[in-house]
Amino acid sequence: MTSIIPDLKTREVWFLTGSQDLYGEETLAQVAEQSRAVAAELGAGLPVTLVWKPVLKSSDAIRRLALEVNAADSVIGVIAWMHTFSPAKMWIAGLDALRKPLLHLHTQANVELPWGEIDFDFMNLNQAAHGDREFGYIQARLGVARKTVVGHVSNPAVVASVETWSRAAAGWDAAHGLKLARFGDNMRYVAVTEGDKTEAELRFGVQVNTWGVGELAEAVHAASGTDIDELVALYEDTYDVVPELRRGGDRHESLRYGAAIELGLRGFLEAGGFSAFTTSFEDLGALRQLPGLAVQRLMADGYGFGAEGDWKTAILVRVASVMGAGLPGGASLMEDYTYHLTPGEEKILGAHMLEVSPSLSSERASLEIHPLGIGGKDDPVRLVFTADSGPAVVVALSDMRDRFRLVANVVENVPLDAPMPNLPVGRAVWKPAPDFATSAAAWLTAGAAHHTVMTTAIGVDVFRDWAEMARTELLVIDEETTLRDFQKEVRWNAAYYRLAQGIN
Ligand code: MN
Repeated sequence: MTSIIPDLKTREVWFLTGSQDLYGEETLAQVAEQSRAVAAELGAGLPVTLVWKPVLKSSDAIRRLALEVNAADSVIGVIAWMHTFSPAKMWIAGLDALRKPLLHLHTQANVELPWGEIDFDFMNLNQAAHGDREFGYIQARLGVARKTVVGHVSNPAVVASVETWSRAAAGWDAAHGLKLARFGDNMRYVAVTEGDKTEAELRFGVQVNTWGVGELAEAVHAASGTDIDELVALYEDTYDVVPELRRGGDRHESLRYGAAIELGLRGFLEAGGFSAFTTSFEDLGALRQLPGLAVQRLMADGYGFGAEGDWKTAILVRVASVMGAGLPGGASLMEDYTYHLTPGEEKILGAHMLEVSPSLSSERASLEIHPLGIGGKDDPVRLVFTADSGPAVVVALSDMRDRFRLVANVVENVPLDAPMPNLPVGRAVWKPAPDFATSAAAWLTAGAAHHTVMTTAIGVDVFRDWAEMARTELLVIDEETTLRDFQKEVRWNAAYYRLAQGIN
């Protein structure tokens, strides 16, 4: 029963320094020493492990290093800095071979110009100002996806920008190792949860496959009484369990069945190496309840999840969980449900039938049982809570026929205006940026989905970097958004992304 959110320190980013043999041994020794110091200072501020590599001086060494990066599962990306001038044709084969995220760090060893002492030896040693321009040219010439970060590593904004990218690289890595199990198909007749699973495997690296819900039901019904006892005891320790569900309560059997679902589902996912899954209330087979509590707890442990067969949102939930590793807050399936439309005070109430992750809330959740009108099964057990107030992001993934489109909205979770005693589900209430009308109109213009991942752990910039790595369109709705410009961006993107694919 453990979290599958990785410790990002187990993930390596390699720090590459470019130079050439021209400068002689003494200068190259200084290059190495200074780049080690830059890497050490930068690495101290990152959630991942930064590994310094010896200075690169030849085409062959660079190509071999790129192949080594590709082959090493622990390496999720590389940072490159041209301390001196590294003639960029030396980088062509390596950059062409590199299959992992790249960050170009444009920095230098010193902060201040040593005005009084500077001589041409100093100039020869500290020439990233033009060495990195040569590198920028070849990256642009080759069309390499990358992030460029500028500034001295003693500047916290520089480290923060590299951290953002390294979290995105962890998300890229999580998607590339992701096996997603679907139990049943998409909800009948629904359009936006459909999509091209083959393209998703190429684009994001995710394997999406379906298992009959009968296999899951067998695993659930095979759960042992002892294991159920233990898990129920854990629930009673962890949550405010309503009396009717507690041991001795009238409906305790329903809680035991909820525990069996968790045991069967978790066991199935662990055995298959799955880190994301979907369910469908239309296809529950012999399952007696729609999985609610189990799904909520699995999401809190880092599993991606989408309801109604929505595998695209399940990918986002998993990726967001990994990108937010170690930070306060969490990631969850969310669904825009209904509005508070008082002018100037507009809010969105988000929830789902059951499946919202308690990682969005620091309050002690209540474990309850209530009827569910949809699905025609027994009343399901579920955790009830309200997401914490504070900044959040909602992100949706749509299949636009020839490509995937990510749409993100920066939002602020706010307190409830009044208690909602008759809405016993996990829920969040938020104000979207820049304002409700612009946000909703932009969202609809983009064809973004009603299902999203909501994350309270990371900001939209992490998704920007992840989208760049995945070469996937991302439309951001934030404080800067105007509907007029957004509509233009949507039109221009349609042309750009079609042209960028080429013809095949
Ligand atoms: Mn839904």
